[in-house]
Amino acid sequence: MPHARTAESKPARPGAEEWVPASADVAQLAQAVHDCRGCELWGPATQAVFSSGPDDATVMLVGEQPGDREDREGEPFVGPAGRVLADALHAAGLDAEQVYVTNAVKHFRFTERGKQRLHKKPDVAHIRACGPWLEAELTAVRPRVVVALGATAARALLGREVRIGAERGQLLDGETHDVVVTTHPSSLLRLRDRSEFGEKFGALVADLRTAAEAAG
Ligand code: SF4
Repeated sequence: MPHARTAESKPARPGAEEWVPASADVAQLAQAVHDCRGCELWGPATQAVFSSGPDDATVMLVGEQPGDREDREGEPFVGPAGRVLADALHAAGLDAEQVYVTNAVKHFRFTERGKQRLHKKPDVAHIRACGPWLEAELTAVRPRVVVALGATAARALLGREVRIGAERGQLLDGETHDVVVTTHPSSLLRLRDRSEFGEKFGALVADLRTAAEAAG
């Protein structure tokens, strides 16, 4: 059993590798992640949030990190962004129950303002630290297509900085699985001009449709 590290201590950031069981299935990974101390994000968070969906899915969706509600409930994409995603999946002809959904980073990173916990984007170091969990999921699920929802997920999957606007909707990578990059559904919720929602939603749906077609 690894030694617990307090949330206040310096982030040594050894990475998740020593906590990821070898040759594990999704259920074993989902259990083991609760012991992970691979970076400091476990300290302030309520719990690790792993994945949902079937472990033999042909399409895997990867988001950034759990949000406030996901952190409390322990399930990915159960908050407002999850509702946008569910609508987009439906519009793209994908059954939300048949896709595997996870995040690049398994603990919620936030700053506190009064009683509010405000989302704080994970650093590249957090993406790297949490990478062994995502790699283990890819090995266990073996999807045909992986959809990166936003730049953090794209970096985690492709190992480089990705400009979503330049690369979205293309089939990338292609060795063991294709990668389709698109926006994170939460970006639609942050639009200042709500009249843009329809266009942005349509673009998200088009990218998901590309993934659905590639998955067969
Ligand atoms: S964010 Fe990832 S690497 Fe960091 S403690 Fe959580 S599960 Fe481990």
